[in-house]
Amino acid sequence: MLLDDILKVFEENKNNIAYRNEKYEVSYSTLYKYVCNLYNYLNAINLEKKIAKIIVYGNKDVTMITSFLACSFAGITYIPVDSSISKERLNNIIKLSNADLIISTIDEEICNVNNIDVISFSVLKNIIKKTENIQLIPLMKEDDVYYIIFTSGTTGVPKGVEVTYKNLNSFIYWFVDIIKHKYDNVLNQAPFSFDLSVADIYYSLSVGSTLVTYGSSIYEGLYKYFIYLKNSHINMIVCTPTFIELLLCDKYFNNENFSDLKILFFCGEVLRNDIVKKIYERFRNIRIINSYGPTECTVAVTSIELNKNIITKDIPIGKEKTNTNIHIVDKENNILKDGQVGEILIVGDSVAKDYINFNSNNFIDFCGRHGYLTGDIGYKLDNEIYYVSRKDEQIKYKGYRIELKDIEKNLYNLKYINKAIVKANKDKYGKVVNINAYIVLNDKNIIKKDIEKRLLDVLPKYMIPKIFILDEIPINKNGKSFIL
Ligand code: AMP
Repeated sequence: MLLDDILKVFEENKNNIAYRNEKYEVSYSTLYKYVCNLYNYLNAINLEKKIAKIIVYGNKDVTMITSFLACSFAGITYIPVDSSISKERLNNIIKLSNADLIISTIDEEICNVNNIDVISFSVLKNIIKKTENIQLIPLMKEDDVYYIIFTSGTTGVPKGVEVTYKNLNSFIYWFVDIIKHKYDNVLNQAPFSFDLSVADIYYSLSVGSTLVTYGSSIYEGLYKYFIYLKNSHINMIVCTPTFIELLLCDKYFNNENFSDLKILFFCGEVLRNDIVKKIYERFRNIRIINSYGPTECTVAVTSIELNKNIITKDIPIGKEKTNTNIHIVDKENNILKDGQVGEILIVGDSVAKDYINFNSNNFIDFCGRHGYLTGDIGYKLDNEIYYVSRKDEQIKYKGYRIELKDIEKNLYNLKYINKAIVKANKDKYGKVVNINAYIVLNDKNIIKKDIEKRLLDVLPKYMIPKIFILDEIPINKNGKSFIL
């Protein structure tokens, strides 16, 4: 099991670097000490008052990884929450998850309406620095919920996906297997509150590599970021295609400057063939793996290693992973034939337990096995699976998963909004380039800035649409809005 293997990695890699960011690095022996201390602390409070779930709040600090591991070894579910999230969204997560405690890994006061206990960063730092001799014993069981990741929901509040220890084990052993080699320096792109980060965090921890993170925004300066990557001798990047597109915008991102870079693992969005061609032009011998999967099915459930001699127009998402099956089904969940387009249904060990405190028809029983109807449309051909589109209003914008209804519901929560339509604009490749909100107001004194400010209290920054205030929503002869 994963936690037993991580223990071995701690033992065998004491002097290796486990974690690096632009300010400092931490060895495996130090990380081990941090984890042991926090684990000990959590076990002690667990004896007095049972702790089932802990929110780990922060932004990619090593103490976030420390907290994930300490919780897991102590048999406690962790809920990663990025500190860029709005206060109201954090409070929604506290309420929805029934969390017992928050561990804060940043120097910032957290105001939570539920008044749940908080281990502040200064207290946390004191806890992990102790030098007691503690033995880590994994208390997590196969069917226990290992982590809960919150994602955009159509109801206007986020929904939490409960991923079990079994789900995670199934994912990570398959992932290590398809990566094949040990890559020493692994770049993390996704915030730790997104499930893509599970791949790079647990790959590094289970093979003894260095997880290289970057706390600041790369938008603050691409050149600074490049120098950091170069000096970190990055061998592997786990990221969305949007991220690599951004790096490719700069000629500096090439084989000469990044001769250590050996593999790119993509997930989360359509990987276009023009991006793949560009990568091969710059990096002749690089390995590229495309994969697909929703948070509800533990990071990724398909993979294909690309080949520069065969770059098809539509790049497949590949074949299903071990112990997981993918079916293309019609509206009655009948399995369709090869070439027929239908909904992607995922069945087997990767399918998460459920959403926490949220009823959904997407988790189903399929012939006695646990399944998840993804809402993604696709088909199978020559043993490969292809993604086509979504059947609903869920989009990917800058790599983030967003329900347009989530934005719309939060607009309607503002009393002065009479009508709101939220629309994603796409480029010729079908990629979302911006999100627009068309609004009719009850109160003519309200200006765009008021709406934006209010939305920022409830939504993450990447979900804030461009606002257009209209007198009325234009309607065509059939009574449908022109905007839609
Ligand atoms: P998330 O839960 O944030 O990982 O987003 C999951 C959704 O991202 C899926 O349901 C798909 O709509 C989309 N997605 C993930 N991987 C791919 C891919 N390789 N190609 C196209 N869409 C993808």
